[in-house]
Amino acid sequence: MTNEWIDLRSDTVTQPGAAMRDAMASAPVGDDVYGDDPTVNRLQQHAAELFGYEAALFAPSGTQTNLIALLAHCGRGDEYLVGQEAHTFRYEGGGAAVLGSIQPQPIANQPDGSLALADIAAQIKPRDIHFARTKLLALENTIGGRVLPREYVAQATTLAHERGLATHLDGARICNAAVKQGIALRDAVAGFDSVSVCLSKGLGAPVGSVLCGSRELIEEGKRWRKMLGGGMRQAGIIAAAGLYALQHNVQRLAEDHDNAAFLAAELAKIPGLTVSTPQTNIFYVDVPAEHCAPLAKALADECIRVSMGPKLRLVTHLNVNRAQLRKVADAFARYFA
Ligand SMILES: *Cc1c(COP(=O)(O)O)cnc(C)c1O
Repeated sequence: MTNEWIDLRSDTVTQPGAAMRDAMASAPVGDDVYGDDPTVNRLQQHAAELFGYEAALFAPSGTQTNLIALLAHCGRGDEYLVGQEAHTFRYEGGGAAVLGSIQPQPIANQPDGSLALADIAAQIKPRDIHFARTKLLALENTIGGRVLPREYVAQATTLAHERGLATHLDGARICNAAVKQGIALRDAVAGFDSVSVCLSKGLGAPVGSVLCGSRELIEEGKRWRKMLGGGMRQAGIIAAAGLYALQHNVQRLAEDHDNAAFLAAELAKIPGLTVSTPQTNIFYVDVPAEHCAPLAKALADECIRVSMGPKLRLVTHLNVNRAQLRKVADAFARYFA
């Protein structure tokens, strides 16, 4: 650890450990725009096999792999169905609209994070010159730390396919969902024509995401990646970290889930605090507005960082342990005492 901060803002804050750095330092590399980087190729092949797809593509960020997928599935004047709370709708700068002339059709998320099947069906437009062409259903799993039920995913993707839509999963944290459900990664993404997976969240790599899909989709995606500025050269240096993360850091996500459950249970003991029950590594605490600023300061004084707001978000990851979370729980208790 490079500092003593206990950082619960996100699972993106992790530091690569010694073994991961060794893998990076010794990775054979080449020019990946020519397809010459053996480590990038290994990562892509490994990810494709792990998630059960023909091919995969390494890119600098999850925003870019999601955008590449949207651009590969949809053309100008097409639309994708997406949750109001989804990253691909809310948190990616409107990239699909700005760069792809693709219209999002947002749908209200249910309390469990899903999109109601009836709402999906109702938003699929008939072929008519008045409407954008509905091409794609985009789901997210986990969404706000919630795991979509397997039966729901099967029903939603079947509905989409029956109506002629393609399916994309923003699986930034799909490994958390699979570990929580105790299922193989390939089973967690069943029903999706493409999936984007973040290597730089709970898996602990410093940079990068992979997009998995059919050979044809990934070939198309490679074109978009270059256009978006995501064609990288000796990228094996960072791909090695992603490969290490997929090989070593998936099953250990269960520890993060246990740690989130521990901290949530401790915070729930504090009178007046409403704490959500974590399903994976993310949960929320309702903080009365007048407490936000002073609580943030009290926590910062104890070297604790959180995403403060009336819906305070707490995220566990591989760089926080139980003893540190004990300190966090005590700091909250002291503040509210
Ligand atoms: C983090 C995240 C992404 C991608 O984010 P980048 O910071 O661009 O890698 C996409 N979807 C979800 C749900 C995320 O949490």
